[in-house]
Amino acid sequence: MFFRRFTALIVISFLLWQTASGQESTPVPTPEKAISPAPKPKPPATPAEPPITFNSVHVDGPYIALTFDDGPNATLTPKLLDLLAARHLKATFFVVGQNAADHPDILKRAVREGHEIANHSWSHPNLGKMSDEAVRRELQKTDDAIAAAIGKRPTLLRPPYGSITSHQKKWIHDEFGYRIIIWDVDPLDWKRPGPSVVTARILKETKAGSIVLAHDIHPPTIEAMPATFDQLMKKGFKSVTVTELLAMATPLPPKPTPSPSAPRAIPVATPAPASSPPPVPTNTPGG
Ligand SMILES: [Zn+2]
Repeated sequence: MFFRRFTALIVISFLLWQTASGQESTPVPTPEKAISPAPKPKPPATPAEPPITFNSVHVDGPYIALTFDDGPNATLTPKLLDLLAARHLKATFFVVGQNAADHPDILKRAVREGHEIANHSWSHPNLGKMSDEAVRRELQKTDDAIAAAIGKRPTLLRPPYGSITSHQKKWIHDEFGYRIIIWDVDPLDWKRPGPSVVTARILKETKAGSIVLAHDIHPPTIEAMPATFDQLMKKGFKSVTVTELLAMATPLPPKPTPSPSAPRAIPVATPAPASSPPPVPTNTPGG
């Protein structure tokens, strides 16, 4: 009995001594600290550069952007505005500066009705083949004409024919703050294939996040729009301005793992990589 108590006392004393000495001694580095090397100097915290160029946008809802290039046109653009207003649809007009300067009232009306006005150069040249100085003049004159008409500078550029170099994208973004908007749906309406073909092509290609290209300077394009708009709406699409669509952008989902039950991710190629070629050859009038 005594021996057991004595043993227990010895064990308790030993444990107490061990604990006490452990507390007094220098803390043993945790395994993690002991293993990890000296922390590397972190690079300055630069946020990932936001994308500049967009062909389409990944969005979670049924949103699309309808875009009309090369106007405004004295008769066709007001007709188009009527069609849009009747359906409460929003669009973006990539205007040619010299037309904008001729028809400031049409731009004013478009803005009043919720549409967006954006830069499409002054005289519709192939920017990709021009000097920086010449491009700067094209963009600045148009920027000024738009500002004079609507009291607000544009924030988007669509280069004619989608033609623009990576170098140009960068300095234009730096100087003008523009995002470069291409498209992912092109009905080739400038070839005037007939209104029903324009409608069919747009309906076939448009998906959530699409940027649809058309031109408000061709009568058959305007003729195609009532059916196009009505059928897009019937499919559940909602049109917003390009700036609104960009604001809705959500990150691309991770690549789907091959699983039969996994929901199919909508393949949306956006934003366009800086090095991507223009979507159309530069000798065609697309854009
Ligand atoms: Zn154009």
